[in-house]
Amino acid sequence: MRCDHCANDVPDGVFCTRCGAHQGKTAAPAEAKARVNRYAAHPSEHVIQPSIFTTIFPHLGHTKIHEFRWGFAVGLAGILVLYIAGLITAALLVAIFLVPMLYLIYLYEAQVYRDEPAIVLGFTIGGGAVVGIVLTVLERIVYNPYQAIGNPLHNAGIGVGALLFLGLLVPVAQEVLKPLPALFLPNRADFPETVDGLVFGIAAGLGFSVAESLVAFSSALTSLPPHLTPGNWIYDLTTLAVFQPLLQGSATGMIVAAVWRYRRGRLASREIGGVAVAVIAHIAFALGTQLLKDAQVAPLVVLVWQAVVVGAVLIYVRYLLHHALLEEAAHMGFAETVCPNCHMHIVASGFCPNCGGALTAAPASLKRARKPRAEAPTRAKT
Ligand SMILES: [Zn+2]
Ligand SMILES: [Zn+2]
Repeated sequence: MRCDHCANDVPDGVFCTRCGAHQGKTAAPAEAKARVNRYAAHPSEHVIQPSIFTTIFPHLGHTKIHEFRWGFAVGLAGILVLYIAGLITAALLVAIFLVPMLYLIYLYEAQVYRDEPAIVLGFTIGGGAVVGIVLTVLERIVYNPYQAIGNPLHNAGIGVGALLFLGLLVPVAQEVLKPLPALFLPNRADFPETVDGLVFGIAAGLGFSVAESLVAFSSALTSLPPHLTPGNWIYDLTTLAVFQPLLQGSATGMIVAAVWRYRRGRLASREIGGVAVAVIAHIAFALGTQLLKDAQVAPLVVLVWQAVVVGAVLIYVRYLLHHALLEEAAHMGFAETVCPNCHMHIVASGFCPNCGGALTAAPASLKRARKPRAEAPTRAKT
């Protein structure tokens, strides 16, 4: 059949395998092409939905995503158990490493780095960590809020200068410097797709997050007794385990993805908006957290604020990635493959004709296993 949107001859299917448009006469053409109710990296979800895993782990199908959700849940439960047992130092360490470790497993699982694990991991996670150490140590030299041993967030009121430094200057400096290692990736030409850029950026942001948290909590980690009464640590632990890494990762992911788009000559208001959202969200996160703590509101309110900011960033990441995947649908040749999302055996080019998932976001092992087929077969094999 001939696709109404890209005018290519494509196999029968619910979605066009070349351009990803929804085939069907019911929706308006622009709607069918943009298909915002079918997020290209994970078609069972809407684009506007603050999911963590289908956003920052775009290469994984249903089943794998579930395994990662479980891993995350088990990690959080472990932190809770350590916290209740009063093993705060151990809980802090698990919280700092939980999301970055899951990301490392994801990079391995999806083989995002293809044949160059050392270079890619070094320039993303490793580079981010180096930037994180240097920057956080410098920040501490300029302004050290933790004079006393113990809960570092019991600082009674900070001045305007410190507030602007922590809430404005630090977030902007971090967003400028965090993406640099990923941008200087020497073999970046091997990874032309924006989804790769996004993942590399997230990895760099998570490397940064680990280093930042370790330096920031170094005094607590080294001086706390191994066992103490749990106290208020649960709020800090939640920020450290969930919101801090998600903010740092997705903000940098968005900035690196925008640069990837720029290199492809596709920089538009959507990408510039992405950079703006990353910086503004980081400022909102840092400044809002400081102001709320200064106002002595309930710690739960601070967590809600952080969740709102992170949710907004995740939605923008999805919006950016969805349109990048649709626009960058290269003709990969018709090939027999298995859809990582719906697990159907399909003959496809850029998108699964059955569920509409973008196959550029398939794990590398699946891409290698594609069996080339003659041009334009008559029917999708299901
Ligand atoms: Zn089409
Ligand atoms: Zn599919």
